[in-house]
Amino acid sequence: MNVLAIGAHGDDNEAFCAGTLAKHAKRGDKVFMCVVTDGSGRPKGDPAEIARIRKGEAQDAADLIGAELIWLAIPDGYLTLNDETRHKFIEVIRATEADYIITHPPQDYHPDHTVTSELVMQAAQVARTSNYPSQYPPIRKFVPVAFMAAEFGLDFVPQDYVDVSDVWDIKVQMLLKHVSQHMPGPTYDANFTLPTDPEAVGIVRAARVMSEFYGLGCGVRFAEPYRWWTAANRVVPRRLLPE
Ligand SMILES: [Zn+2]
Repeated sequence: MNVLAIGAHGDDNEAFCAGTLAKHAKRGDKVFMCVVTDGSGRPKGDPAEIARIRKGEAQDAADLIGAELIWLAIPDGYLTLNDETRHKFIEVIRATEADYIITHPPQDYHPDHTVTSELVMQAAQVARTSNYPSQYPPIRKFVPVAFMAAEFGLDFVPQDYVDVSDVWDIKVQMLLKHVSQHMPGPTYDANFTLPTDPEAVGIVRAARVMSEFYGLGCGVRFAEPYRWWTAANRVVPRRLLPE
Protein backbone atom coordinates (compact mmCIF):
# COMPACT_ATOMS: atom_id res chain seq x y z
CA MET A 1 0.00 0.00 0.00
CA ASN A 2 1.16 3.58 -0.72
CA VAL A 3 0.35 6.19 1.93
CA LEU A 4 0.72 9.93 1.31
CA ALA A 5 0.72 12.38 4.24
CA ILE A 6 0.51 16.06 3.29
CA GLY A 7 1.31 18.53 6.07
CA ALA A 8 1.46 22.30 5.75
CA HIS A 9 4.53 22.79 7.92
CA GLY A 10 7.78 20.90 8.45
CA ASP A 11 6.69 19.13 11.62
CA ASP A 12 2.93 18.72 11.09
CA ASN A 13 3.04 15.15 9.80
CA GLU A 14 5.26 14.24 12.74
CA ALA A 15 2.91 15.90 15.24
CA PHE A 16 -0.36 14.42 14.00
CA CYS A 17 0.26 11.19 12.09
CA ALA A 18 3.88 10.02 12.52
CA GLY A 19 2.83 7.03 14.63
CA THR A 20 0.44 5.86 11.93
CA LEU A 21 3.12 6.38 9.27
CA ALA A 22 5.66 4.46 11.35
CA LYS A 23 3.23 1.54 11.59
CA HIS A 24 2.72 1.60 7.83
CA ALA A 25 6.49 1.64 7.28
CA LYS A 26 6.98 -1.25 9.72
CA ARG A 27 4.63 -3.47 7.77
CA GLY A 28 6.37 -2.64 4.48
CA ASP A 29 4.05 -0.01 3.05
CA LYS A 30 5.51 2.83 0.96
CA VAL A 31 5.22 6.08 2.93
CA PHE A 32 5.45 9.56 1.41
CA MET A 33 5.74 12.61 3.69
CA CYS A 34 4.89 15.77 1.76
CA VAL A 35 5.64 19.18 3.30
CA VAL A 36 3.92 22.10 1.58
CA THR A 37 5.66 25.23 2.88
CA ASP A 38 9.41 25.80 3.04
CA GLY A 39 9.63 26.90 6.67
CA SER A 40 11.53 30.05 5.74
CA GLY A 41 9.35 32.27 7.95
CA ARG A 42 11.12 31.62 11.24
CA PRO A 43 13.39 31.71 13.18
CA LYS A 44 14.71 35.06 12.07
CA GLY A 45 17.56 34.78 9.59
CA ASP A 46 18.28 34.39 5.88
CA PRO A 47 15.06 32.82 4.47
CA ALA A 48 16.95 30.60 1.99
CA GLU A 49 19.24 29.30 4.73
CA ILE A 50 16.34 28.75 7.16
CA ALA A 51 14.44 26.83 4.45
CA ARG A 52 17.50 24.66 3.82
CA ILE A 53 17.75 23.84 7.53
CA ARG A 54 14.03 23.08 7.80
CA LYS A 55 14.17 20.76 4.80
CA GLY A 56 17.14 18.94 6.33
CA GLU A 57 15.24 18.45 9.59
CA ALA A 58 12.19 17.10 7.72
CA GLN A 59 14.47 14.75 5.75
CA ASP A 60 16.08 13.49 8.95
CA ALA A 61 12.65 12.78 10.45
CA ALA A 62 11.44 10.99 7.30
CA ASP A 63 14.65 8.92 7.24
CA LEU A 64 13.84 7.51 10.69
CA ILE A 65 10.98 5.48 9.18
CA GLY A 66 12.34 5.17 5.64
CA ALA A 67 9.70 7.53 4.27
CA GLU A 68 10.21 9.54 1.08
CA LEU A 69 10.17 13.29 1.70
CA ILE A 70 8.37 15.45 -0.88
CA TRP A 71 9.23 19.12 -0.33
CA LEU A 72 6.91 21.50 -2.22
CA ALA A 73 8.84 24.60 -1.04
CA ILE A 74 5.99 27.13 -1.11
CA PRO A 75 7.53 30.15 0.69
CA ASP A 76 6.10 30.76 4.16
CA GLY A 77 3.29 33.31 3.97
CA TYR A 78 2.46 32.60 0.31
CA LEU A 79 0.34 29.46 0.47
CA THR A 80 -3.02 30.32 -1.09
CA LEU A 81 -5.63 28.57 -3.20
CA ASN A 82 -4.26 29.09 -6.70
CA ASP A 83 -3.87 27.03 -9.87
CA GLU A 84 -0.07 26.78 -9.70
CA THR A 85 -0.07 25.36 -6.19
CA ARG A 86 -3.03 23.09 -6.88
CA HIS A 87 -1.15 21.69 -9.87
CA LYS A 88 1.72 20.72 -7.55
CA PHE A 89 -0.73 18.86 -5.30
CA ILE A 90 -2.25 17.05 -8.29
CA GLU A 91 1.17 15.94 -9.50
CA VAL A 92 2.10 14.66 -6.03
CA ILE A 93 -1.14 12.69 -5.74
CA ARG A 94 -0.70 11.19 -9.21
CA ALA A 95 3.04 10.50 -8.85
CA THR A 96 2.74 8.69 -5.51
CA GLU A 97 -0.22 6.52 -6.58
CA ALA A 98 -1.46 6.85 -3.01
CA ASP A 99 -4.01 4.35 -1.74
CA TYR A 100 -5.12 6.99 0.72
CA ILE A 101 -4.05 10.47 1.76
CA ILE A 102 -3.67 11.94 5.25
CA THR A 103 -3.92 15.71 5.65
CA HIS A 104 -5.20 18.51 7.89
CA PRO A 105 -8.92 18.82 8.69
CA PRO A 106 -10.92 21.55 6.91
CA GLN A 107 -11.25 23.47 10.18
CA ASP A 108 -8.01 24.33 11.95
CA TYR A 109 -6.19 27.29 13.44
CA HIS A 110 -3.71 28.18 10.71
CA PRO A 111 -4.64 29.21 7.15
CA ASP A 112 -1.74 27.04 5.91
CA HIS A 113 -3.52 24.02 7.44
CA THR A 114 -6.98 24.86 6.08
CA VAL A 115 -5.67 25.83 2.62
CA THR A 116 -3.70 22.57 2.50
CA SER A 117 -6.83 20.63 3.41
CA GLU A 118 -8.87 22.37 0.70
CA LEU A 119 -6.11 21.93 -1.90
CA VAL A 120 -5.90 18.20 -1.13
CA MET A 121 -9.65 17.78 -1.64
CA GLN A 122 -9.62 19.79 -4.87
CA ALA A 123 -6.48 18.10 -6.20
CA ALA A 124 -7.68 14.60 -5.30
CA GLN A 125 -10.73 15.15 -7.47
CA VAL A 126 -8.97 16.88 -10.39
CA ALA A 127 -6.31 14.12 -10.33
CA ARG A 128 -9.07 11.87 -11.73
CA THR A 129 -9.69 14.13 -14.75
CA SER A 130 -8.57 12.27 -17.87
CA ASN A 131 -7.38 15.21 -19.97
CA TYR A 132 -5.86 17.35 -17.22
CA PRO A 133 -2.32 18.23 -18.43
CA SER A 134 0.09 16.26 -16.26
CA GLN A 135 3.29 14.26 -16.31
CA TYR A 136 1.34 11.32 -14.91
CA PRO A 137 -1.73 9.30 -15.85
CA PRO A 138 -5.05 10.13 -14.19
CA ILE A 139 -6.07 8.41 -10.97
CA ARG A 140 -8.71 5.78 -11.62
CA LYS A 141 -9.00 4.17 -8.18
CA PHE A 142 -10.85 5.58 -5.19
CA VAL A 143 -8.42 7.55 -2.99
CA PRO A 144 -9.88 8.22 0.45
CA VAL A 145 -8.70 11.26 2.43
CA ALA A 146 -8.20 10.96 6.19
CA PHE A 147 -8.13 14.16 8.21
CA MET A 148 -5.60 14.08 11.04
CA ALA A 149 -6.28 16.03 14.25
CA ALA A 150 -6.56 19.80 14.34
CA GLU A 151 -3.96 21.71 16.37
CA PHE A 152 -4.34 20.62 20.01
CA GLY A 153 -7.38 18.59 18.93
CA LEU A 154 -9.67 21.61 19.19
CA ASP A 155 -13.15 21.03 17.76
CA PHE A 156 -11.99 17.75 16.26
CA VAL A 157 -14.25 14.74 16.81
CA PRO A 158 -12.56 11.50 15.68
CA GLN A 159 -14.25 8.73 13.74
CA ASP A 160 -11.32 6.34 13.74
CA TYR A 161 -8.22 5.71 15.86
CA VAL A 162 -4.79 4.15 15.42
CA ASP A 163 -3.04 2.68 18.45
CA VAL A 164 0.48 4.13 18.21
CA SER A 165 1.74 2.93 21.61
CA ASP A 166 4.29 0.54 20.10
CA VAL A 167 5.81 3.23 17.87
CA TRP A 168 5.60 6.10 20.34
CA ASP A 169 9.37 6.41 20.76
CA ILE A 170 9.83 6.73 17.00
CA LYS A 171 7.24 9.52 16.85
CA VAL A 172 9.08 11.41 19.61
CA GLN A 173 12.42 10.95 17.84
CA MET A 174 10.89 12.28 14.62
CA LEU A 175 9.52 15.35 16.41
CA LEU A 176 12.91 15.98 18.01
CA LYS A 177 14.55 16.26 14.58
CA HIS A 178 12.88 19.67 14.19
CA VAL A 179 15.44 21.43 16.36
CA SER A 180 15.11 24.88 14.76
CA GLN A 181 11.47 25.09 15.89
CA HIS A 182 12.38 25.19 19.54
CA MET A 183 14.97 27.92 19.81
CA PRO A 184 14.08 30.22 22.71
CA GLY A 185 15.10 33.44 20.96
CA PRO A 186 13.64 34.85 17.77
CA THR A 187 16.92 34.52 15.85
CA TYR A 188 18.49 31.33 14.47
CA ASP A 189 21.21 30.01 16.76
CA ALA A 190 23.50 27.38 15.20
CA ASN A 191 24.78 26.37 18.66
CA PHE A 192 21.34 25.59 20.10
CA THR A 193 20.66 22.05 21.28
CA LEU A 194 17.38 20.66 22.54
CA PRO A 195 16.88 19.96 26.24
CA THR A 196 17.60 16.32 27.13
CA ASP A 197 14.10 15.87 28.58
CA PRO A 198 11.69 15.52 25.62
CA GLU A 199 8.85 16.79 27.83
CA ALA A 200 10.62 20.16 27.92
CA VAL A 201 10.06 20.42 24.16
CA GLY A 202 6.64 21.99 23.64
CA ILE A 203 5.59 20.01 20.60
CA VAL A 204 6.52 16.69 22.20
CA ARG A 205 4.50 17.51 25.31
CA ALA A 206 1.53 18.61 23.17
CA ALA A 207 1.71 15.43 21.08
CA ARG A 208 1.94 13.30 24.23
CA VAL A 209 -1.05 15.00 25.90
CA MET A 210 -3.14 14.70 22.73
CA SER A 211 -2.20 11.09 22.06
CA GLU A 212 -2.89 10.09 25.68
CA PHE A 213 -6.26 11.84 25.52
CA TYR A 214 -7.22 10.04 22.30
CA GLY A 215 -5.77 6.83 23.74
CA LEU A 216 -8.19 7.16 26.66
CA GLY A 217 -11.03 7.20 24.15
CA CYS A 218 -10.09 3.81 22.72
CA GLY A 219 -8.45 2.10 25.68
CA VAL A 220 -4.78 2.28 24.71
CA ARG A 221 -1.77 4.27 25.92
CA PHE A 222 -1.30 6.50 22.83
CA ALA A 223 -3.57 6.95 19.82
CA GLU A 224 -3.77 9.15 16.73
CA PRO A 225 -7.32 10.11 15.66
CA TYR A 226 -8.80 10.58 12.18
CA ARG A 227 -11.92 11.66 10.37
CA TRP A 228 -12.67 10.67 6.79
CA TRP A 229 -13.67 12.93 3.93
CA THR A 230 -17.10 11.47 3.35
CA ALA A 231 -17.79 12.07 -0.32
CA ALA A 232 -18.23 10.24 -3.61
CA ASN A 233 -15.06 8.54 -4.90
CA ARG A 234 -13.63 8.59 -1.36
CA VAL A 235 -15.45 5.93 0.62
CA VAL A 236 -14.25 2.32 0.49
CA PRO A 237 -15.58 -0.82 2.22
CA ARG A 238 -12.27 -1.73 3.88
CA ARG A 239 -10.01 -0.45 6.64
CA LEU A 240 -7.03 1.56 5.41
CA LEU A 241 -5.48 2.70 8.69
CA PRO A 242 -3.02 0.21 10.24
CA GLU A 243 -4.24 -1.94 13.15
ZN1 LIG B 1 1.36 23.45 11.10
